[in-house]
Amino acid sequence: MSPSYLLTGGRVVDPASGRDEIADVAISNGLIEDAGSVAHPDAETIDVSGHIVCPGFVDLHTHLREPGREDEETIASGSAAAAAGGYTAICAMPNTDPVADTASIVEKVWALGRETGLVEVVPAGALTKGLLGERMSDIGEMHRCSAGVRLFTDDGKGVQDALMVRRLMEYIAGFGAVYAEHCEVESLARGGHMHEGERSLALGLAGIPAAAEELMVVRDIALARLTGCRLHILHVSTTGAIEAIREAKRDGLVVTTEATPHHFTLTDSALEGYDPRAKVNPPLREEADRLAVIEGLVDGTIDAIATDHAPHAREEKDQELTQAPPGLIGLETAFALAMTELVAPGHLSLSTVIERLSTAPARILGLEAHGGPLEPGRPANLTVVDPEAEWVVDPDAFRSLSTNTPFAGRRVTGRVLHTFYYGRATVLNGEVRGTVSV
Ligand SMILES: [Zn+2]
Ligand SMILES: [Zn+2]
Repeated sequence: MSPSYLLTGGRVVDPASGRDEIADVAISNGLIEDAGSVAHPDAETIDVSGHIVCPGFVDLHTHLREPGREDEETIASGSAAAAAGGYTAICAMPNTDPVADTASIVEKVWALGRETGLVEVVPAGALTKGLLGERMSDIGEMHRCSAGVRLFTDDGKGVQDALMVRRLMEYIAGFGAVYAEHCEVESLARGGHMHEGERSLALGLAGIPAAAEELMVVRDIALARLTGCRLHILHVSTTGAIEAIREAKRDGLVVTTEATPHHFTLTDSALEGYDPRAKVNPPLREEADRLAVIEGLVDGTIDAIATDHAPHAREEKDQELTQAPPGLIGLETAFALAMTELVAPGHLSLSTVIERLSTAPARILGLEAHGGPLEPGRPANLTVVDPEAEWVVDPDAFRSLSTNTPFAGRRVTGRVLHTFYYGRATVLNGEVRGTVSV
């Protein structure tokens, strides 16, 4: 039997049910229980007054580096970082080494996640063999195996050939899974190190134009319309791409999208000191794009906040900007950045931010045990946060094996205190409690 907890005096914010009230929450045998009607003589009481009790966060976009680069992140270390960040489920991108393009690899990732037992590790499968864009991977087998893959992507790159995209979408639509695209036309983006604009010109760096993203977004929307496939646009970053998705949704198309905390927090001005930590793909854009991302989150064009957590070894990331690989880590800063950049300035309500971090991504991934509602009988996958706590980002204190973040030293508001995964406290008072088996 797992231990019982009684969380007292917290503000329950549960977008799935619309609840926003002060209430006690009881947890027993992995489930949420009715705090009023059940006696809990053996329950550990945790006073959470002044804090928020909400469904655990769900990250649609996490790069774990296992198999292949366990020096940068393992499934265990990435799970610990996720739990510390308030997550109870993460979707593991398939660009590992070897690439997750067969049932045996996604099953291995899934099993290692279960063994770690800190969060639900949901493997995504590659669309094409080796992410080469040439031959379809074993999509059907990955979907039918024990990992039950529901989201397929070649993330790291987009599928360049439109006919290949059409065939993949037709196949995936047959069983209702999600086609997820990293939208970037390679011929336009090749050799670019940052967003193409006035700043790239001033810095003398080759740029990646917004059009490289926008063309592929428009192409994929047209092909989703043609095939009836569910389309998810990864890490949307430009005004034009967001407007295209807004229009497609208005037309009733089933298309979803996500934005990262770095794209609603930073612009290409972060590159001014040639800081390799601010190099990311898609690149940090201009202020107008940053504001368009926020507007998309406000009006629901952008369904979810996803981290694109991308760990890199220090010796590789700490090179000259033109040599350093793109990417930054985000699991342990996402909630605080959302609070600091979206809630504090009044762009989004706390409830909407929790919806974008938890309820919406759980729905996109089809994870019924996550994202709420927080009702008796439901799995106790939930998070307790202090919305007021101020802290300074210190990557050396992270649970991730990597430290590549442009947010080091930044003062932020909002801290994850406790995370419960199927009723077990994976994080208590900000401390990850080792690994447990489920
Ligand atoms: Zn990507
Ligand atoms: Zn990615």
